[in-house]
Amino acid sequence: MKIAVLRERFAGENRVAATPETVGKLVALGAAVTVEAGAGAGSRITDADYAAAGASIMPAAEATLAGANIILSVRRPQAALVAGAASGALLIGALDPYGNEGELAALAQAGITAMSMEFMPRITRAQVMDILSSQANLAGYQSVIEAAAVFQRAFPMMMTAAGTVRPAKVFVMGAGVAGLQAIATAKRLGAVVSATDVRPAAKEQVESLGGKFIAVEDDEFKQAETAGGYAKQMSAEYQAKQAELTAQHIAKQDIVITTALIPGRPAPRLITRAMVESMAAGSVIVDLAAERGGNVELTQPDQVIEHNGVRIVGYTNVQGRIPTTASQLYARNLLAFVTTLIDAKAKTLAVNWDDELVKAVTLTRDGHVVHPHFAAAIPTGEPSLAPSDPTVPPKPSRRTIARKAQVPAMADTPKKAAPGVEQSVPASAGPQPTPAKRAATKKAAALINAAAAAKAAAPKPSAPLGSDQLAAAKTRTRRVINPAMLAPDATLGQPVRRPRKPAAPKDNT
Ligand code: NAD
Repeated sequence: MKIAVLRERFAGENRVAATPETVGKLVALGAAVTVEAGAGAGSRITDADYAAAGASIMPAAEATLAGANIILSVRRPQAALVAGAASGALLIGALDPYGNEGELAALAQAGITAMSMEFMPRITRAQVMDILSSQANLAGYQSVIEAAAVFQRAFPMMMTAAGTVRPAKVFVMGAGVAGLQAIATAKRLGAVVSATDVRPAAKEQVESLGGKFIAVEDDEFKQAETAGGYAKQMSAEYQAKQAELTAQHIAKQDIVITTALIPGRPAPRLITRAMVESMAAGSVIVDLAAERGGNVELTQPDQVIEHNGVRIVGYTNVQGRIPTTASQLYARNLLAFVTTLIDAKAKTLAVNWDDELVKAVTLTRDGHVVHPHFAAAIPTGEPSLAPSDPTVPPKPSRRTIARKAQVPAMADTPKKAAPGVEQSVPASAGPQPTPAKRAATKKAAALINAAAAAKAAAPKPSAPLGSDQLAAAKTRTRRVINPAMLAPDATLGQPVRRPRKPAAPKDNT
């Protein structure tokens, strides 16, 4: 069993799909690991580090891939590059298939089994494999660091002999994984933080982090969440009301961080040119949705622009700007999934194609595009293996495909999830995993680190707050209650203290 780790070729991508830690664990599982020379350089990992962990360093992609059964990557490599791997080799990474259907077909024709980690269901046993959460968490953290770097003023309140410095006001739009981490990071730096979201569940999560929740809480708001926990597309009427409320608020903010996304759609436009112009010179906006079209009308992808003295930061790969930590968590996500594909006793590849995780992420297999979201759309010249599934959305029109080219691989469905289960792709109707597979998954979690054990104790995602938790939320020391943030790769399990009373400014908006 051979596992290959490629050097990333996507411009500006400094992350890598395996670290010495995960290489060592793959070797212990019986794999021969090859790493392309320089693969870890962008994440400060040397070839010698990989070699010490048991990998063979290969000078080029061809030698790295020769005979590989599994290829680990961050971005989707070109089909021509990976064609030298073993027939049926598993390509595991963030493959970004929407809008890239041609590349998907090319991978199928090259005999590659493409597995897209963005499609990992958000169920409890797969939390350790959730690359969207691990990377969004870091993007949220890094967004505050980027804001601080261009803000040119202090975040915390300071009472000095030379006078008092007022704290920065930070407004976070979208309180999902990235937004909650941004709130927590801005609080740690001493800012006065407020946040908004269209999901009612976000209110309590924002407040648990010491943020003030700002939203139009009408009937539509109360319904605005899918069974999977994602935001719904809001009506034009709601958006207008929300825009009016947030416009007044934004005008008083020093820093606005936008993270608002709706799965499978371009990012909602939340900040207009006029709103930017209402902000004081020296204010900063960081648009974390830049990769999906941006939440801000003026965002330029991968640029920091200035408009009327307001800086707008539009980096499209913010997690890639903290590559060492991002690689560490991403590599652990991949290791956890790969572990479920290996028979640890026989030390061989043993993919259970009936496993719901495998089914959810597999895009191509045996020369065909098999994922229900894509199989119908791609003319491979061969009959599709896709099952006739009533939950599969209809084939998108040409216009939809063009629009989706801006949208990363992610999908949600209004289909009702099982209680306590959140999902990002339609639940497959396939059989449940066998006890042996469950045991293998458990072992995967144990292999990662002690954090995985901490996650096991996390409350069920959709469980309502118990009275104990509510009571705890009222005490001075607060814990994050968002289940996503209790995942093993989250860093927010630590208590977050409120600012001392005398330091709190009178106007929190
Ligand atoms: P996301 O990246 O899809 O979106 C980011 C945030 O933007 C969301 O909170 C969304 O509600 C918000 N948003 C969308 N439109 C908006 C608008 N017009 N105005 C303001 N905000 C808007 O979200 P995510 O970070 O992937 O999290 C989505 C949900 O999934 C959350 O409830 C999260 O707790 C949950 N989750 C569950 C798991 C799990 O394993 N069970 C893991 C991660 C996240």
